[in-house]
Amino acid sequence: MMLIPTHHFRDIERKPEYLQPEKCVPPPHPGPVGTMWFIRDGCGIACAIVTWFLVLYAEFVVLFVMLIPSRDYVYSVINGIVFNLLAFLALASHCRAMLTDPGAVPKGNATKEFIESLQLKPGQVVYKCPKCCSIKPDRAHHCSVCKRCIRKMDHHCPWVNNCVGENNQKYFVLFTMYIALISLHALIMVGFHFLHCFEEDWTNQQQAYRLPREGTAEARTSLHEIKQPLKSSTECSSFSPPTTVILLILLCFEGLLFLIFTSVMFGTQVHSICTDETGIEQLKKEERRWAKKTKWMNMKAVFGHPFSLGWASPFATPDQGKADPYQYVV
Ligand SMILES: [Zn+2]
Ligand SMILES: [Zn+2]
Repeated sequence: MMLIPTHHFRDIERKPEYLQPEKCVPPPHPGPVGTMWFIRDGCGIACAIVTWFLVLYAEFVVLFVMLIPSRDYVYSVINGIVFNLLAFLALASHCRAMLTDPGAVPKGNATKEFIESLQLKPGQVVYKCPKCCSIKPDRAHHCSVCKRCIRKMDHHCPWVNNCVGENNQKYFVLFTMYIALISLHALIMVGFHFLHCFEEDWTNQQQAYRLPREGTAEARTSLHEIKQPLKSSTECSSFSPPTTVILLILLCFEGLLFLIFTSVMFGTQVHSICTDETGIEQLKKEERRWAKKTKWMNMKAVFGHPFSLGWASPFATPDQGKADPYQYVV
């Protein structure tokens, strides 16, 4: 899930006289305000499509192999609602994480006017990114996939085809949480399915295919059954038992893999939010230059002020209460 961004680290540290602002011109066509953020990266787009495909596969197996053919109506309805709601929230969080600007620093802002406006004193240092020609606020890092400097960049995640940074970390955390929850839910349902249905299905299937002696009355009735073995044999699934087993084993495998990956990622993210240290800062063991706040304050800075149900909703844009202006000078 995490690309180790060896080349994403802070690039260059220079004093104002070496910033060469004359070489930095803002891009000739800055995108119109409100344009959707979307990274055109083949690998990222393929990973994002695979993510959707895997969620839809789980939806298909849960609905058509386990819940719809089940005879327990209440069990099917309750589990169907819970699973679909969680899957919907997971995909919505994925979209928000992918399509939200993670906190990109304006390209080419290292102009003479901008540097002058910072009113640098002798000895003060600002950071300039030579790749996107921008003056980086503190804690921003350049991402070579997004080709931009990203504020509080944590890592570039190909599964959401975007950087995880200051503005979209909430959606990324929700995405990992909902994927972990649907994986767990699917695994529990597969467990129940094996417990309640399998013995019955296999026994019935064997009976339906049992060949009687030729010419007997039993043979004449059984031949009719053989033509429609699935109809008479399947009580718990609309597919034949072998197909059902394969579909369920694949779902188990997918569920286990995703449960492990996403719960580890969720834990790592919550830890880095609580300690207010991004993945890159932890890797680089950067010295702490920013004020230390309580864990609760750090959570609110990512999920929004004040604590509410909106924390769990990918549709609620967090009010991060940006009181502090971005710090450019170190
Ligand atoms: Zn940059
Ligand atoms: Zn990126």
